Amino acid sequence: MTHEMPKLPYASNALEPVISQQTVEFHYGKHLQTYVNNLNNMVKGTPYETKGLEAIVATAPDGAIYNNAGQVLNHTLYFLQFNPKPASTVPTGKLAELINRDFGSFEDFKKAFTAEAVALFGSGWAWLSVDKNGKLVITKEANGGNPVRAGLKPLLGFDVWEHAYYLDYQNRRADHLAALWNIIDWEVVGNRL
Ligand code: MN
Repeated sequence: MTHEMPKLPYASNALEPVISQQTVEFHYGKHLQTYVNNLNNMVKGTPYETKGLEAIVATAPDGAIYNNAGQVLNHTLYFLQFNPKPASTVPTGKLAELINRDFGSFEDFKKAFTAEAVALFGSGWAWLSVDKNGKLVITKEANGGNPVRAGLKPLLGFDVWEHAYYLDYQNRRADHLAALWNIIDWEVVGNRL
């Protein structure tokens, strides 16, 4: 199967000032496009040619196919979770219930999630996922890792590779992460449950 770029549901400048047009153009238009192209080229003639994206990320051995598939899945989830004017700036419905149950409150969840993302050494991702028992978990992944590899269902992911924020925030990763909360579309995230 051919892996495709996700279609952005907003203009490339719509996430400013949280994420600049230039960052979206490089991050989505160059980095993600390269991961998609690499993956499509690399799976040709391999058992992964007929597999879906999540199946590749869950089963491919460590290596180039896994790295590129992980980054295609990661960035698809990432770019589709944003909305310049989200209907709600806090989780609603079932997701809100689970966050309160498993983290105490939305504020406590944000603190715990942000702390993991800030502390991640080098390049990687922080994720909110739901496990097989319906419990929410926060995990860190190095490089292009995705929680599906551990049997989790990813709901929300923050990219802490420098390419995600360096043009706009330089070394200020924590400031970038603090701003990201303003453009999370909680309806999209909740629908991933
Ligand atoms: Mn990225």
